Amino acid sequence: MRGTMMDFPLTLPTILERAGKIFPRVEIVSRRPDKSVVRTSYGEFYRRARRLASALTKLGMQPGDRVASMMWNHSGHLEAFFGVPCGGGILHTLNLRLHPHEIAAIVKHARDRFLLIDDVLLPAYEKFCDGAYFEKVIVVPYGCNTVSEGFLNYEHLLADAGDDFRYPPIDENDGAAMCFTSGTTGFSKGVIYSHRALVLHSFACGLAEVFGMGLFDTVLPVAPMFHANAWGLPYACTMLGSRLILPGPNVDPESILDLMASERVTIACGVPTVWIGVLDALEKNPGRWKFDSPIRVVCGGTAPPLGLIRQLDPFGLQIKHLWGMTETTPIGTSGGLREHMRDWPDEKKYEVRAKQGWPAPFVEIRLMRPEGEAPWDGVTSGEIEIRGPWVVASYHDSPDQAHRWSPDGWFRTGDVATMDEDGYVKIVDRAKDLVKSGGEWISSVDLENSLMGHPAVKEACVVGIPHPKWQERPLAAIVLKDGTSATAEELRTFLAKTFAKWQLPDAFVFIDAIPRTSVGKFKKLALREQFADWKWE
Ligand code: ADP
Repeated sequence: MRGTMMDFPLTLPTILERAGKIFPRVEIVSRRPDKSVVRTSYGEFYRRARRLASALTKLGMQPGDRVASMMWNHSGHLEAFFGVPCGGGILHTLNLRLHPHEIAAIVKHARDRFLLIDDVLLPAYEKFCDGAYFEKVIVVPYGCNTVSEGFLNYEHLLADAGDDFRYPPIDENDGAAMCFTSGTTGFSKGVIYSHRALVLHSFACGLAEVFGMGLFDTVLPVAPMFHANAWGLPYACTMLGSRLILPGPNVDPESILDLMASERVTIACGVPTVWIGVLDALEKNPGRWKFDSPIRVVCGGTAPPLGLIRQLDPFGLQIKHLWGMTETTPIGTSGGLREHMRDWPDEKKYEVRAKQGWPAPFVEIRLMRPEGEAPWDGVTSGEIEIRGPWVVASYHDSPDQAHRWSPDGWFRTGDVATMDEDGYVKIVDRAKDLVKSGGEWISSVDLENSLMGHPAVKEACVVGIPHPKWQERPLAAIVLKDGTSATAEELRTFLAKTFAKWQLPDAFVFIDAIPRTSVGKFKKLALREQFADWKWE
């Protein structure tokens, strides 16, 4: 016998309507490139997003058409997050930090018809437009520049659109948004999020064990809206009526801290390199920023080192660990303590908080080894395979990638991890980043975490470099904190307290900065290339 409930579609117009009707007064704060602040509300956003849907439809947007956006985090981009899919299109957020050739290739692969772009990003457009054609380029006067001829003016389009827009029929499995992976380990691949996936993912974001945001929260996505939809926050905050603070292009540590303090942020998210910079700024300027209450800092993209979690705590910035991928919308697991750990010693608690956490509801994970599934014993590692309603089932137009799914349909993540009996995942490494030394694997992540616990080390990145005898050996690239010093020998001795001799890096190089990927992760590929010809002693 079937249930007797309605078959109600899970689509974004329902979230937009609710925001417009239930939270019209809740504020959305955007910062312009000159750092001036613009305050609007979900009520205003609702009207404008619907007008955008109407304007795009009048321009000829058909169901399933891709509309690209090249925009910073601000309310105009949020309008696109809803206006495009609620008009039946698919919003394709372009990663503006990629090389122009890559952007052009991605635009072609996605077959984007229209482009929404911030006026201040037109110089970036000039660099890739020869390789990518758009039928219409709509310029958002975000930096308040005048819009030159040949482009459509976003504000004029919205002004001309009426308030009488009627949503087209949308199936919950229709595409709503599109992202390409940030390409840390190779060429980007496209993922299309369905309405259903984004709605269910928004529910997951709201859970206490994930972001846990609600009507009392002020949320600051530092992660760019082109990086896995700022981790789902634009949709989830709109669904739950959380006040949104959108930082624009200024995401240096001081600017972030200024916003956190002045706007009384309660939840922020960003990759660890952001918070490494923030910690540095806090240590250099004691007492400059004051927060009313602790801030939940949701951190993922790479593993936040245990030392970072510990050192941010006294400043009231409490890191909460999240693991995920563009391919998982992105929430896979989220971390934290459990009730029975309440009285554990601090050190043990930090060890738990440094783990990636347990799978979100409806996300299923298994660890695969050549001989079969690994037990959840906290020791045996295997590749994470994952499935769930917001996990990718195929890449956009990439039949050559079919090997990324197991014969029974689980997605192969390429991440190697252990799991314990409580379901906590601990990432050992990306399969590609494990250092393969003489038949043994060394976790670069573990070495980095330990090194960043040394008082003189600001950043550490460990890569495997070809070695004539051992296949690969670890090389550690180190950025020291200003005004401190440490020698290679000191760092080796420091690591030797926790690691076996064969696991210790054979080389330490001291550099000014570790190269970053387009979304702020350490760019291991670049380091490997830089030190490929390292002369081992
Ligand atoms: P890219 O693969 O190009 O970096 P993504 O941003 O989608 O693009 O990255 C997903 C990957 O980032 C994961 O497969 C994993 O390797 C890494 N990652 C994400 N979150 C964490 C985390 N909390 N700890 C360790 N690694 C993480």
